[in-house]
Amino acid sequence: MTTEQPRLLIKNGILIDGSGHDPITNTLVVAEGNRITHVGPAGSSVRPESPEDRVIDATGKFILPGLIDAHCHISLHQGALPGVRYTSSAEFCTLWAARAIGRVLRAGVTSIAVPGGKWFTDVTVRETVDGGLLEGPRMVVAGRALSNYGGIFDPDPYPAYDGTPNDAAGVLCNTRDEFIRETRKQCKRGVDLIKIADSTWGDVQTVAEDEIAAVVDEAHRHNVKVAIHSRGSTSTRAAVKAGIDLIYHADLATEADLDIVAKAGMPIAPVLTSPWVGVEHGAAARGFGDRVRDRLRAQLDTSFQMIRNARDRGIPILSGSDTGNASAFAHGKWHGKEAELFVKKIGMTPMEAIVANTGGNASIMNLEGEVGVIAPGRLADIVIWNNDPLADITVLQRPSEISVIIKDGRLIGES
Ligand SMILES: [Zn+2]
Repeated sequence: MTTEQPRLLIKNGILIDGSGHDPITNTLVVAEGNRITHVGPAGSSVRPESPEDRVIDATGKFILPGLIDAHCHISLHQGALPGVRYTSSAEFCTLWAARAIGRVLRAGVTSIAVPGGKWFTDVTVRETVDGGLLEGPRMVVAGRALSNYGGIFDPDPYPAYDGTPNDAAGVLCNTRDEFIRETRKQCKRGVDLIKIADSTWGDVQTVAEDEIAAVVDEAHRHNVKVAIHSRGSTSTRAAVKAGIDLIYHADLATEADLDIVAKAGMPIAPVLTSPWVGVEHGAAARGFGDRVRDRLRAQLDTSFQMIRNARDRGIPILSGSDTGNASAFAHGKWHGKEAELFVKKIGMTPMEAIVANTGGNASIMNLEGEVGVIAPGRLADIVIWNNDPLADITVLQRPSEISVIIKDGRLIGES
């Protein structure tokens, strides 16, 4: 990514900068190399245009930071492909992942957190993108999810096996020592994030507080963050006490639990899109029966209320889609859905929802002050949309409405 790039001038567009500031019409955004160097009114004084510059006329268009998806799997699920016998092999998994990241990027998503996948595929894909071999978003990745008996990644169906097959997305850890050992192994292999998996629905707490604390201690010594799949009340409380960095879901967190979360300053990523897709498309896409759909619908209603309560307490709410979780969550399709649910179900303003998907999500990327906001000095991750997401938040779900994607100062789709 070090080859000489022309200076980039984006002229005349309407800037929604990702910080929550009111939109600014008629702007000039300049990027040099991989950084934004100037944001100001059209005609503001920068070095005069030269024929070497790349000029984009964004008249009537909307300039936003690249979207950040705080929950996007890349290698968790592979579809069947005629002629491929072992779709769960490390080899096929890697090819699948390499294809998937391009689709994510072309949906306007320039950064993702990957909370769990197979093998160490996602680490390698991240390294490959960073090295310039593949075009893809910035990635913060976990390895296999650490799960004990009854956790969401404890592989079923029983009694086919006990333990975890090598191609599972979870790895069974049933003692404190096993949690520590797996954390250490994953840190050595270069993960940015450890994912702990509590129970599927949150009705029981499967991971003990001291196990979570042991993982946090080990991971933090390696400068690696820890996230947990926690739908339950007690598991959320335990995760906070153990000093976790991010809670996914937290559906059943009571107001008292949320007081503790707020006091600790921990973010919650509710991932509403995942049950929403299950309710709306589960029957066709995943063969869900009425019972599963009813359960998901009830879970979704609980989550909506919980996240309203979290918002009232000023808890940072991160936005993630659970893309790539299963075949219904196609890469590139659902990244903008969470913003719509935030607006229509939680009561956020469209601007708040945009911030949740840009500047507000930067913390999970370990890139606060670097991505998510368009301002001088920030990394040049920019998407230009044809229509106004403040007027219609669903614009963010339609890659067809994207005019230009820029990552690291470079136009995507051009070499
Ligand atoms: Zn997930």
